[in-house]
Amino acid sequence: MRETLVLNASFEPLSTVSLRRAVVLVMQDKAVVEHAHPGMRLRAASVDLPVPQVIRLCRYVRVPFRQRAPWSRRGVLVRDRHRCAYCGRRATTVDHVVPRSRGGGDTWLNTVAACTTDNHRKADRTPPQAGMKLLVQPFEPTPADTLLLALGLRDVEGLPEWLTVPAPAV
Ligand SMILES: [Zn+2]
Repeated sequence: MRETLVLNASFEPLSTVSLRRAVVLVMQDKAVVEHAHPGMRLRAASVDLPVPQVIRLCRYVRVPFRQRAPWSRRGVLVRDRHRCAYCGRRATTVDHVVPRSRGGGDTWLNTVAACTTDNHRKADRTPPQAGMKLLVQPFEPTPADTLLLALGLRDVEGLPEWLTVPAPAV
């Protein structure tokens, strides 16, 4: 997947994101296309978009100098796309893999999205103690993810099928 450069509203380069994410930002009116691939467009019944190479955010985003996203419960849910790490169903709570009572911290690598059922079932135990298995491993968001978290972009999987991006003309 080609990457699209993201500029802040002030035109300063911020990050790169996947083309899919760039298209979502444009469709949600969070960014405008500054440069597009010549001669390439994404077309569907009601949409006709240039294929963005560079987009610029409509709103100025203050990006911290450190390239690490500060941990938050909301951030964990967004990172895990509201999917329970234990069963894959919709998650509304955050589970500490190593419970706080056992020294586990509020960190990206120690927290996962969980449904309320699994969160209660696991309770104050580690996954092996509870006989539960993580379907996905927690990870630390990349700088690009950090930007998307700051923008409140969440449902990148909600893109319609027709937005499959055409292969670049070589
Ligand atoms: Zn679950």
